[in-house]
Amino acid sequence: MPTAPSEVDDLVPALVALRRDLHAHPELAFQERRTAGIVAGALRLLGLEVHEGLADTGVVGTLRIGHGTRSVGLRADMDALPMVELGRSAHASRHAGAHHGCGHDGHTAMLLGAARHLARTRSFDGTVHFIFQPAEEGQGGGRRMVEQGLFERFACDAVYALHNWPDLPLGQAQTRPGPIMAAADRFDIVLRGRGGHAAQPQHTPDAILAAGQLVTALNTIVARRIDPNDAAVLSVTRIEGGHSHNVLPAEVTITGTVRSFDPAVQDRIEAALRDTVAGVALASGTTADVSYTRYYPATINSAPEAALALAAAQAVGLDAAVAPRPAFTSEDFSFLLRERPGAYLWLGQGRTDPGPDGERPLHHPCYDFNDDALPLGVRWFCEVAERALAPPSVVVGPA
Ligand SMILES: [Zn+2]
Ligand SMILES: [Zn+2]
Repeated sequence: MPTAPSEVDDLVPALVALRRDLHAHPELAFQERRTAGIVAGALRLLGLEVHEGLADTGVVGTLRIGHGTRSVGLRADMDALPMVELGRSAHASRHAGAHHGCGHDGHTAMLLGAARHLARTRSFDGTVHFIFQPAEEGQGGGRRMVEQGLFERFACDAVYALHNWPDLPLGQAQTRPGPIMAAADRFDIVLRGRGGHAAQPQHTPDAILAAGQLVTALNTIVARRIDPNDAAVLSVTRIEGGHSHNVLPAEVTITGTVRSFDPAVQDRIEAALRDTVAGVALASGTTADVSYTRYYPATINSAPEAALALAAAQAVGLDAAVAPRPAFTSEDFSFLLRERPGAYLWLGQGRTDPGPDGERPLHHPCYDFNDDALPLGVRWFCEVAERALAPPSVVVGPA
């Protein structure tokens, strides 16, 4: 049976307090020791098997009910962003330079709430692994958990996660089969001349001019080298070089990111970028070094699990729909989805407290998870586990 709203409402006051405590004490990637300690302590109190130290600060709690051999992993991320919070709530960050600007405080609280609820209802047959991962924000904590044997130690037939989503109103949820979040690549290009007097350009290749030409050329790659039916974006985000008005610098650094959904498109963009850099360097007389790193793969939902995630959302009263298109942001739950079937859900967050500029998107310095979403996420996680591990005699579809 779907988890009725009243069944988790009694958990909400404690979850709100926990979420705000986590918000006030944000911890950066692989430093989530206080958070991991709170999570592990709470899971132990529930009587779960608790495993600490996977990927340094990761925690996995295991709840086995009945004799079923099926298993499911539910995942939350615990880390905060390296940024200053400008919010002024009573639970604003007390850690300088760290801010829960992506709402992972809410994810952690919701998954703990689901563990609490499932530990008391015991309404499934099999094993649920509650996976609390470190370092989602660009540091690949999910990858490290997989590399350190997450699925060898904790068998999961499928894995599920959610992200709070300010672009959707509270009470709505979306996911989709196939790509839902983009692959994220980073490039760092160093163009080198020799450096020299600005009045004597004939004596040195001009790395500044080459950088200007290169930025323009890089911005033609997606437009001219990629099939218009394939979605991708390339952004140059940093140029650094030069210190004086009368010196041609010896080197200029250009940094940026590429987002796409298909490894073949990634291959084509990387090759075109390398060709473009080589061509500009040749024409300008500079030399160039290119570093190109594919740090997060695309987040790809498997179709049956995306259907289960949507059905679960509908069953607990969310206004759930198939997402019309993926997002170009990225997510390291992708590493778990490369190993196991599963799905990633966007849980509507709304913008209940718009700032003077009107919007507070994820990673905004005033971002604060909407506590009204807590019971919605708890119910969804519980419903997913109950559907994935429904006792054989119980018909809960679609499976
Ligand atoms: Zn984020
Ligand atoms: Zn996030």
